[in-house]
Amino acid sequence: MKTLYMVSLGCPKNLVDSEVMLAALEQAGYAVVEDPNQASLLLVNTCGFIRPAVEEAIDAILELAAYKDEHPEQLLVVAGCMVQRYGDNLLAELPEVDLFVGLDDFSDIARLLERLTPEPQIVARPGSAAYLMDSSVARRISAPSFRSYLKITEGCDNQCAYCMIPSIRGRLRSRTIDDLVTEAVRLQETGVRELTLIAQDLTAYGRDLHDEANLVALLGALLQHTDIPWFRLLYAYPASVTDGLLQLMAGQPRILPYLDIPFQHVSDQVLRAMNRHYRRDTLDDLVRRIRRFVPDCAVRTTMMVGYPGETEADVTEMVEALQAWQLDHVGVFQYQDEDGSRAAQLPDKVDDDEKEARYQQVMTTQAAISEQRQQRFVGRIEPVLIEGVSEESELLLEGRSRFQAPEIDGCVYITSGQVHPGDIVPVRITEAHTYDLVGEVVNDQENS
Ligand code: SF4
Repeated sequence: MKTLYMVSLGCPKNLVDSEVMLAALEQAGYAVVEDPNQASLLLVNTCGFIRPAVEEAIDAILELAAYKDEHPEQLLVVAGCMVQRYGDNLLAELPEVDLFVGLDDFSDIARLLERLTPEPQIVARPGSAAYLMDSSVARRISAPSFRSYLKITEGCDNQCAYCMIPSIRGRLRSRTIDDLVTEAVRLQETGVRELTLIAQDLTAYGRDLHDEANLVALLGALLQHTDIPWFRLLYAYPASVTDGLLQLMAGQPRILPYLDIPFQHVSDQVLRAMNRHYRRDTLDDLVRRIRRFVPDCAVRTTMMVGYPGETEADVTEMVEALQAWQLDHVGVFQYQDEDGSRAAQLPDKVDDDEKEARYQQVMTTQAAISEQRQQRFVGRIEPVLIEGVSEESELLLEGRSRFQAPEIDGCVYITSGQVHPGDIVPVRITEAHTYDLVGEVVNDQENS
């Protein structure tokens, strides 16, 4: 029996690659199983852009390799960003693995398995990847069927000094608008109600295409050719969020009032050292424009503390900026040297204890802001996409509002109402906490 057990690590972009491999293997006759003991094929799709992700991938691989001790006939295959980043070195490091597949070859995994050699092998083009999927490539949607991701580009041209992604995923490559509309229509037919657009830099979409393609044009086409009720935007670049995009969001309720825009820092000297192509005044202006065009927009960002050369004054400026901007969701990360990155060569490293102290300072500041921001929802009736029974309690249902992205933000706990996963229903918000909301489904009469 051809059976498959798969572990998908990393970001939603990597999840889309996993779904492509799942579809290819299912077409080749593999059935997905929940128990690794029952699998003839063990597959790990890895993340590899930061050390903790690499360590998590190696742990997952070694955990599955242990099953091979009991079932020597099993195949262990490893794909994804870690393979692209480390290439041939992995053969010696992980002899338990039968096949390593790089980012240019994962869609071909079924054919590669037919041509396996007795010796462990690697199929990965050295250097950064060049492959770009299109709508002719099948995907087996893994997330609940009512929500999915649309990967609109591959790669990135921004060259941030701390980031290894361009050296792994390659230069910016945009899919055409027609191709993305074709995939979106297919996803709608499978029941998708929330489609999240993803990329390394969403706002760079179309820059490499020699036509009028850009994010606003793409969204216009998706709104015109599908009936998908919710479009969500993740990974915008601060310097590239145009008034045109904000105006479109203001006028189109199907584009959710939600923006994920990694700022990474606020201090000009740190942003310069990171090779981020904007400065503090760009961020102030951006927040002002978002508030002007889409006043209720939820803004998510990420901040990095402990970057080489960062001073206490830089962190104070970050705290003051967050207090001034009042953003909804902020993920805070501690800088780590990455082998091969330009930032790793920079002097004036910040020691771990100091990094931790700065991390706590920013997290504490933001937690109070997030809790305050959430209060604006209490008493409002908000459309909520139902996810299903809550993991917290069988007595509760869980959903997400327009202001909460899947897998990264909080949720809405629903205390009453007859609803089903995938429904978008009016919910009166009765409580607001730092990350989560509580509410009850209201009937049409109450909602009118
Ligand atoms: S924009 Fe993002 S993916 Fe691109 S180089 Fe910068 S951090 Fe990396």
